[in-house]
Amino acid sequence: MPDSSGSRPLSELPLEELTACHECDLLMRRLALAEEQKACCPRCGYELQVHRSNMVRRSLALVLTALLLYIPANFLPIMRLNMLGQASQDTVWSGVVGLYRSGMEPIAVLVLLCSMVIPLVKLLCQLAVLLSIRQAAARDLGILLYRLYHGLRSWGMLEVYLMGILVSIVKLLDMAELHLGVGLACFVGLLLAQVWLEVTMSSHQVWDALEDKPDARD
Ligand SMILES: [Zn+2]
Repeated sequence: MPDSSGSRPLSELPLEELTACHECDLLMRRLALAEEQKACCPRCGYELQVHRSNMVRRSLALVLTALLLYIPANFLPIMRLNMLGQASQDTVWSGVVGLYRSGMEPIAVLVLLCSMVIPLVKLLCQLAVLLSIRQAAARDLGILLYRLYHGLRSWGMLEVYLMGILVSIVKLLDMAELHLGVGLACFVGLLLAQVWLEVTMSSHQVWDALEDKPDARD
């Protein structure tokens, strides 16, 4: 993105027409993007903006998919284990309960927050923000919830949890008879839907729509 494409110097432009790079703080003129176009910082290459087509509808489909997968991912068996004649099956929820009953209450609470509560709150915030874009009266609430969502982004750690599951599967393979459960498939599906949602729900488009720019509300 060029920083002096227009005839007027940057210092004379109104703030709405300027953008700054999040990585290197370079100040630039903000360009109107066509669908599926993106703008990158000319100094460091950071992706400044991307304009997704049908952003709201595609994001709504993904957030509903993730919410549908949330319950089976957390409450259906991740794996069934048969070791020395003893069979057991584990879910994300039973892992939290197991930690609590073993006397590791703080870790149980942390796992509960990072693997179940915060991912659910994030999804509900995203759903409410997307719905508020179409309702002018709810837009202030949408702005509040989108700020909350950005504050929670670094606390949802599904990918760390999945990595832990994969490591335990590899370690247990030689020691026990292991059957992967439908909960694991739902968990991977939930994670993929969330990652896809992060890519689709372009934050500058969401902010533009919440700021009452009609062309951003598709
Ligand atoms: Zn930059």
